[in-house]
Order: sequence, then C-alpha cells, then structure tokens
Amino acid sequence: MTVSTAACVVCHSALWHDELGRMACHRCTDRISADLAALPGLYVQLGGALMPGSGAGGPAVSGSRTAPLPLRLAPLSLSAKGGVVTVLQQWVEDWHTCLEYEAPTWKGDLAAQCHQAVARLQLLLPWAVESHPAVDDFAEEVRQARAECEQAITRERPVRTVAVACPCGAVLRITLDTLGRRCTCGAQHGREALLDLPLAERRQVAA
Ligand SMILES: [Zn+2]
Ligand SMILES: [Zn+2]
Repeated sequence: MTVSTAACVVCHSALWHDELGRMACHRCTDRISADLAALPGLYVQLGGALMPGSGAGGPAVSGSRTAPLPLRLAPLSLSAKGGVVTVLQQWVEDWHTCLEYEAPTWKGDLAAQCHQAVARLQLLLPWAVESHPAVDDFAEEVRQARAECEQAITRERPVRTVAVACPCGAVLRITLDTLGRRCTCGAQHGREALLDLPLAERRQVAA
C-alpha cells in the first residue's frame, strides 16, 4: 500500500492512498462519528445526574447523616444552554455557512435539539472530513464533550464512600457494597462488622 506524505489533521498519521485529499483519515472519521452517536444518550442521562444522590437508592449507613448537597454543577453546566448542545449547534451553523446553506432552525427542547444537531453533523461529516480545515477542532470538541458527559454521569453512580475507624485507629474507606475488608493491623472485618464500626470522619473533624 502506498502512504502519501499528507497527514490526517486529527491524528497526524499519514493518509493512505485512498484517503488522499481528505482532511481526516477513515479511523478518525469513525471515531468522530462514534463520539457524536454517543452524545444524545449521554445528554439524556445528564438530566438524571443533576440531582445530588440520584440513583443512590441504597439504604443509609446507620449513623451517617449527610447534609443535602447543592444541585450538581458539572452536569448542569454541560446540559444547560451554552453547554454541549450549543457547541454542537455552533458547528452545524459553521458548516452550513461554509456550504452556503440556509441557517438551521432548532426545534423542541434541548434534548431534541441535541438529537437534531447530531443528526445534521453525522449527515455532513463525510463532507467535513474531506473539506473542513478545522475538522481537527471539531473532532477535539466532540471528543471532549463526550468525555465530560461520561465523567459527570459516572461520578454520580452510587459509589459514595464512608470512612469508618478500625479499633486500631486506622481509617477504612468502604462503600455500601463492600463485603469485607482486612485492615493493615490484621483485623478482618466482615460486612456487618464494617457497618458497625464508628464513623471516622467526625473524629477527624474533631481532631
Ligand atoms: Zn486520523
Ligand atoms: Zn485496624
């Protein structure tokens, strides 16, 4: 196979013969398309990640009292106007301008607009990877949007840890799913025993 000297603007690897004249290689095109395809679903999930503790429906550890947290900011700033959907819409508008198409009109709520923008970008992606000089910026922003959404959603999963104190004084971080833990002092705590240990956080605050 012949490798040309021209490189993909996204991954900087040399373009194959059948990719010559394109801005981005086939693999990067597939990656961009996959990142785009993930966004509408992630966007909907962001709504569920807005409220603190949502999804963490497990029983409270006896004795642990948690103050209500403010509305989570990361999912909010991603899902609000100016977040992910706006980024996508700005690219649609940019591409429409490049192609001398009419400016797009957006319908419905932001989730619907997210779908609409992604569908439009997917449709025009073959053109963009061939001809748009800033397709590397586009690829980067879409990848980042996906990563930020995934991060915001993952962090909300019920992995709240509780710090308990072993009689030896060591602090053990456990979750409600922890089945047992061996302390550095050698003590073996089963699940029941772990949940009976005193909370360590208050003690640390007092110290
Ligand atoms: Zn590439
Ligand atoms: Zn111990």
